[in-house]
Amino acid sequence: MRVLIIEDDLDIATNLYEFLEGRGNVVDLARDGVTGMHLAVSNDFDAIVLDLGLPGVDGLCLCRKLRREAKQDVPVLILTARDMLDDKLAAFDSGADDYLVKPFALREVEARLNALVARRRGRVVDRRLVYESIEFDAAKLEVTVEGKPVHVSRKCLRILEMLIAAPHRVFTRAELERELWGDEQPQSDSLRSHMHLLRRALTDTRGRAPIETVHGVGYRFAVNEGR
Ligand code: CA
Repeated sequence: MRVLIIEDDLDIATNLYEFLEGRGNVVDLARDGVTGMHLAVSNDFDAIVLDLGLPGVDGLCLCRKLRREAKQDVPVLILTARDMLDDKLAAFDSGADDYLVKPFALREVEARLNALVARRRGRVVDRRLVYESIEFDAAKLEVTVEGKPVHVSRKCLRILEMLIAAPHRVFTRAELERELWGDEQPQSDSLRSHMHLLRRALTDTRGRAPIETVHGVGYRFAVNEGR
């Protein structure tokens, strides 16, 4: 997922950034409210992690503006040292979706973000996508080929999720790269190597791989006979 962190404390921001990025997310960081607001309205994030005490525009004000002026419904998780009931109520009143008090565990931040994003994408109920002998559980992020579990990286899972949801549709390289790396251009062959790994992991016992290269364009999900 694409996550925006708006947090002025450098240690907390860096911890969050490195943790979430290490888990396969595309992460942007803003250290003040004005920059945060600008990034939030000019990009399409899956979720925002928002500190309340910020230089410039504070978190509550930012959240209110995001909802009432920018009309953005992106999930917002508030991270703050303020733990009084009134503070929490004010955050929800300004349009926040969830609230976590510092100090927090990074894994809890990730779990809450995943829950918010899943809810928004309508993926809370068990949801399995099946194509030929391949099954992808989009809620648990588990893949099986001919009933056997297959382990691939987060980036590969994200690719699979896009492709298997729309079999036979051609995804362009630019489209996939944007979903995986955001605006940061990856190294030139990154997409190709992820595709290679994913294709190999998904190859069935008859040697059939489900990903076709559409030369000069991109990729599509379709089972072809072994090469
Ligand atoms: Ca702060």
